[in-house]
Amino acid sequence: MSDNQALFERAQAVIPGGVNSPVRAFRAVGGTPRFIQRGEGAYIHDAEGRRYIDYIGSWGPMILGHGHPAVIEAVTAAAREGLSFGAPTEREIELAEEILKLVPSMEQVRLVSSGTEATMSAIRLARGATARSKFIKFEGCYHGHTDALLVKAGSGLATFGHPTSAGVPAEVAQHTIVLEYNNVAQLEEAFALHGKELACVIIEPIAGNMNFVRASVPFMTRLRELCTAHGALLVLDEVMTGFRVGLASAQGLYQKLIPGFKPDISVFGKVIGGGMPLAAFGASREIMKHLAPLGGVYQAGTLSGNPVATACGLATLREIQKPGFFEALTAKTRRLVEGLAGVAKEMGVPFSVDSEGGMFGFFLMDALPQNYAAVMTTDKERFNRFFHGMLDAGVYLAPALYEAGFVSAAHSEADIAATLDAARGALR
Ligand code: PMP
Repeated sequence: MSDNQALFERAQAVIPGGVNSPVRAFRAVGGTPRFIQRGEGAYIHDAEGRRYIDYIGSWGPMILGHGHPAVIEAVTAAAREGLSFGAPTEREIELAEEILKLVPSMEQVRLVSSGTEATMSAIRLARGATARSKFIKFEGCYHGHTDALLVKAGSGLATFGHPTSAGVPAEVAQHTIVLEYNNVAQLEEAFALHGKELACVIIEPIAGNMNFVRASVPFMTRLRELCTAHGALLVLDEVMTGFRVGLASAQGLYQKLIPGFKPDISVFGKVIGGGMPLAAFGASREIMKHLAPLGGVYQAGTLSGNPVATACGLATLREIQKPGFFEALTAKTRRLVEGLAGVAKEMGVPFSVDSEGGMFGFFLMDALPQNYAAVMTTDKERFNRFFHGMLDAGVYLAPALYEAGFVSAAHSEADIAATLDAARGALR
């Protein structure tokens, strides 16, 4: 058995920073990343044989926990039949049918292999369908690492965004307008200035990339109205929220709150692949007809609709539709966050929490923040100490204060109780 530090050093010799996705490196919180050997149910085990209650769940996909028997059976059976064909299969139709049944705002869907690919293609589709170039995104929302989406706000509404990554030319960012989340006045101003040039607005309906911040109902209402009035498409990035906050996803929640609400394009990932590389974007037939091979918007993928990934996604989607699944997951997640808030109150630590379905957020502050700037006022040192206190006690939270947490169907009441005990110790 190797220890985590030895593996980290070995990894750093051959992989930049020792990781294949930056947040795994524990840069924000410090310390040595845990190298995971296996997962079972609600637990992951590291290279040193330590067990953790897992609240990351691969950053969202593992809604059933690790190694769910129905999923493993479906995946191994599919693998025996063939890993990839690069030709259509019936399982792709089944998965598309299943997704469309659950998301009535879409009439057709295209399967891809990552959330990044799906949002990139959704933006291209919106631009192709509207013959416009500019789009709006919101600060604190993450939509994958496409060039035009790695952009932060410029100096004012009349100026365009600046790349947040080296290697992204300023010209690529010049069509991206970055606004503050939940700021209705700024949204109205941006539409007044650029409305007729906007291909789309892309948004995380509940922003899990700034921990857990909901789009307010007035904000979402106005966003839908402005898009419709100006002929811009509303792209809902449900990569994280899709089939995670409820069976009807976040759009289902907003449909209940805003009469007639629906996105023009939706993007899914994570849960629909159940832990295998799979994501999707979809819309009405009218919009999807612009996509190759029907239309001029090009999009493709060697592994798109992969037979093993689709088997994994299908098995996962079938499990989460069983009666009572989301009721139980929602109640359990709520018990966790309310329990954490209770422990913090006992300890006199400022704390606020929110959750929806199996997704949650907590902030070491008295009130829930409404935008990225407010999230970033969190006491980072205090968060890092809390994170390491929990990790030492066998609870694996996201190693950064701007990430959401995830509960799976495999988490038990005993796991929740153990987590609250750990929190009592860590907050002390
Ligand atoms: N959109 C959202 C809302 C996400 O949370 C993520 C990933 N965390 C992505 C897009 C990108 O997905 P992927 O990492 O699969 O490329």
